[in-house]
This record gives sequence, C-alpha cells and structure tokens, in this order.
Amino acid sequence: MAEILTSKIAMELEDKHGAHNYHPLPVVLSKGRGAKVWDVEGKEYFDFLSAYSAVNQGHCHPKIIGAMVDQAQTLTLTSRAFYSDALGVYEKYITEFFGYDKVLPMNTGAEADETALKLCRRWAYDVKGIEPDMAKIIVCADNFHGRTISIISMSTDPESRTGFGPYTPGFIVIPYNDLEALKEALKDPNVAGFLVEPIQGEAGVVVPDEGYLKKAFDMCHDNNVLFIADEVQTGIARTGKMLACDHEGIHPDILILGKALSGGTYPVSAVLADDEIMLTIKPGQHGSTFGGNPVAAKIATAALQVVKEENLEEKAEALGKIFREEMKSIDSEMVEVVRGKGLLNAVVIKPKNGKTAMDVCVKMAENGVLAKPTHDHIIRFAPPLVISEEQLRTAIGLIKDSILFFD
Ligand code: PLP
Repeated sequence: MAEILTSKIAMELEDKHGAHNYHPLPVVLSKGRGAKVWDVEGKEYFDFLSAYSAVNQGHCHPKIIGAMVDQAQTLTLTSRAFYSDALGVYEKYITEFFGYDKVLPMNTGAEADETALKLCRRWAYDVKGIEPDMAKIIVCADNFHGRTISIISMSTDPESRTGFGPYTPGFIVIPYNDLEALKEALKDPNVAGFLVEPIQGEAGVVVPDEGYLKKAFDMCHDNNVLFIADEVQTGIARTGKMLACDHEGIHPDILILGKALSGGTYPVSAVLADDEIMLTIKPGQHGSTFGGNPVAAKIATAALQVVKEENLEEKAEALGKIFREEMKSIDSEMVEVVRGKGLLNAVVIKPKNGKTAMDVCVKMAENGVLAKPTHDHIIRFAPPLVISEEQLRTAIGLIKDSILFFD
C-alpha cells in the first residue's frame, strides 16, 4: 500500500534530504486557488505571502495556466540558437506594455539583476566612456537583490554575505532614502548606475520618503548615470500601480522584473531598456538556455494581461488602504508600526512576554492565515491581488485574533 504523505512525513523528507537553507513555517501545502491554499490534511489558509509577491494574479489562475499548458503541449524549449514563433510576439507585447525599445528575457530575479549590472557596466564603457574595469554602481544599504556572488557582494546583510567572499568589486553602498549620500556618491566620475528597490521588500517593506525616487532619478540624469529600478518584488501592480516607480512618474533607464511576471507559475524575469543601453550587449556576450523560452513567453503575456483585465492595480490600491487602517486600529502593544503601499505591507512587532513575530505567524497559521517574518520582528503581508474585499476582511479578523491572543 502506498504511504500516505502526511505533513509530518513531508517535513521530515525535506529536512533529511534537502539543504537547510530555509526555515519554513510547519505547514505543508498541496493545493492553491486564487488567494487560498490548502495543506495536505485539507486545512484551508489565506496566503498572505504570495511566494514573496510572485503570485499577484492568484494561485493557478485559469488564464495563465491555460496559456502555459497549451504552449507546453506544443513547444517548450528551443534555446536562443533558433527563433521561436512565441518570443518575438511576447517581446513586442512587453516592450510596448512598459514603454521600452527592447527586452532581455531571463528566468530568476537574481539573473535579471545580474543582467542589469552587466548591461550598466557595458554602457559605462561603450557609451559613457569610463576606462576599462573602472565602472562603479551605487547601491543602497539593506538592499535585497538575490543570492549570487556579485549580488551578495553588494549586500549589507551579514547573514547573506559573511563567509562567501571574496566579493565582486565595483559597488558603492549608501544609506537608503538619503539624497545627500547619493549626491556625494555621484561626484565620482566612474559611477555608471544607481540600483535601487523603489520599496525595500526584504528589508521589511521600507517605504522611502515621497519624492525620493524622483529626486534620485533627476540627480542620476544630471550626472549621466543610469537609474536602475529593481521592481522584482514591487512591480506588476503589487503597490497599487503597475510599477512602484509609477507613483512618482519616473521611467527607469533599466527596469528589472521577475516574480509576478510569471503569475506564480515558474521562473520568468526580464530586463527592459532602450536601444542605447540594450544594444551595447552583442551576440555571444550574454544569455541563458531557458531565458525567453516559448512557455515563459506565453505565461508572461497572459500574466500581464490578467493584471490589466482584472484591474489589479486599482484593487491593490483600494484594499491596501483598508488593510493598513485595520492593522493600525489593533489595540495591542505588539503592533509597533504599520507601513506599506498597495498590498505590500508590513507590521513591525514589538516582542511581548518573550513572544515574537514568529510566534504571531505560527498563531496566524493555526487560525488560517499564512505569512512569514522578515528580520525577526517584522511581518510582511502580501496577499494575492485577486483577493476579494470580503476575503480580506475575513483574513484581517483572523490576523487581529492572532495578535490579540498574546495580549
Ligand atoms: N530583487 C528583489 C527586489 C527581490 O525581492 C528578490 C527576491 O526576493 C530578488 C531580486 C531575487 O529574485 P529571485 O529569488 O527570483 O532570484
């Protein structure tokens, strides 16, 4: 008789045979639909993580899954050694959608960030005229751009970085949301780019002052420096606009997308830029076996269409306001700060009687809401944007009960 895979067995298997590079909540999921997921015992939860904002369109969205399955039964992978009848159509769609001349398709967010770094360096030498190997890129403290060697080289998080040296040179780290520091750093003539998250997601949904991005963008342009926006987590309607940069009316020189560009199906990322930047990379100088594959092309097109068809920008904006108001109304000393934009929000938890954000998350899971602490004391709340107002209000009730349980 086949063994029944209980939650306990599934967790033991991961623990025994998988690397210990994550610390998951003790919940084993086996099904998802819209804003909800179910565990192997059939318990239902609201998903308030959305795979770190990759599932903005909701779990198993029929249109996205339909596009994926259709293409998977036709042609899955050609490599870029040949043309495909799916890629060009997608490239036309996404470049017109975001207003750029060209797109460079990749798979994960980290790969797209690496691509943007290479593109910026190449532009520095070929267009700006910086001496070979001298280009620098300004980044912000507490950033999160992924896990590769070059990306952790610009990280300030000891957990991400320590013990993985030697590090890639060429980065200048300045504080986030600090225009004076940016002004100083821009004095270096070898600076080619400024890479920034419009809201720092992994740092705990840190929202910069209003006007920061616009002023930073203008300062970069005054100094012939590329403004590179990492919208892997903030993009695709998460913050109440298609891009978080849209809140300040700026059009980044290089735009990095990932996560929800896949509708939560499988890795799809993209780097967008105009010809002056994108055409500095020539055939053979960059690529990826899977980047731009026909399935990814169809998935990303459907994922973007769903965002428009279902008005997910407006929904995120409206529901986000309700969420923050309700969180602020919780009468508990544990709720220290509530912040965010659209449906990317965080509650900073003040520990009480030894109970921390992790305890609150475990309680929420018991009550049917899944979220995960970031940096010990912050809980990020990012449900799929397809969540209805009624579902959101039900989930808010469960979150309140979970926090007040410790009061
Ligand atoms: N950039 C940002 C802003 C992110 O939040 C993340 C992941 O959380 C990444 C890049 C890395 O994406 P991936 O995990 O797909 O490599």
